[in-house]
Amino acid sequence: MRTLEYVRVGEPAQAVAELAADPAAAFLAGGTTQLDLMKIGTVTARRLVDITRLPLRDVTFDGGDLRVGALVTMERLAREPVVAQRLPVLRDALLAGASVQLRNAATIGGNLLQRTRCPYFRDVATACNKRDPGAGCAALEGVHRNHAILGTSPHCIATHPSDLAVALVALDAVVRLLGPDGPRTVPLTGFYLPPDDTPRLETVLRHGDLVTGVDIPLPAQGTRSGYLKVRDRASYDFALASAAVVADPGRTRVALGGVATVPWRARRAEAVLREAPEAFVAAAGAELADAEPRRDNGYKVELARRTLIRALSTWAAP
Ligand code: SF4
Repeated sequence: MRTLEYVRVGEPAQAVAELAADPAAAFLAGGTTQLDLMKIGTVTARRLVDITRLPLRDVTFDGGDLRVGALVTMERLAREPVVAQRLPVLRDALLAGASVQLRNAATIGGNLLQRTRCPYFRDVATACNKRDPGAGCAALEGVHRNHAILGTSPHCIATHPSDLAVALVALDAVVRLLGPDGPRTVPLTGFYLPPDDTPRLETVLRHGDLVTGVDIPLPAQGTRSGYLKVRDRASYDFALASAAVVADPGRTRVALGGVATVPWRARRAEAVLREAPEAFVAAAGAELADAEPRRDNGYKVELARRTLIRALSTWAAP
């Protein structure tokens, strides 16, 4: 049996101080991922700082931004009228992201920080560079049907699991943080780190940093948007491929999920669409041109291509 310390905090600054003072501490919010990973030994925190009482549950407007507290649940945000009216891509991604039971417990901050579903990451008897740097990557020659084809490295090919993050990347959302040196903001497009040589580092967060919220710029009136997710089970599953499309008057923003090591902003597709707004096939082809499938996930190249074309045809066609 492992000894575990538990402390509950009431203010964000107190949460940051508690974590910064202990390298073996971790935050606990909804717990829908964190506790699972602790039970199987993948996460080895010895002290949990419970942040569920922090005042981070507001959804407000500030200028043209929707400001969402980190502890707002997925279900509540999906049911906000402004999300249904102005941000259907966000609503679709939230509702597709988990069962209703999980959505009522899981928080926006926790969703953005959820860990990969790579089975080797969750099996401490196997080699995993993300869990144990330098150990190797069992997925390279193992079971990797669900793994990434974009943004991979020779050290890790794990897929980022969040649907929400894909929608927020397409929306140019910004993450609000509070750290030991004070508050700061990071665009979500720069928040996640590809594995490169250091798969263990998944975000720009430093130990002690607390995600306090997300700011989402509201698209212009008349913008069409949506999220298309393809999965093995329609009822509830992680994406094999997904596409978020935000078609403002004059420009189209695109992101892919289920196929990349990070929520993937499809800059190449966007560049094609800037020159030729209806060139959906060319845009999808450009985005997947450098995909690097392995033995068992080559199907994802065509699946992602078709998913993107269908999403563009649905929300970006005139
Ligand atoms: Fe670990 Fe990444 Fe390899 Fe999976 S793909 S075993 S998470 S290093």
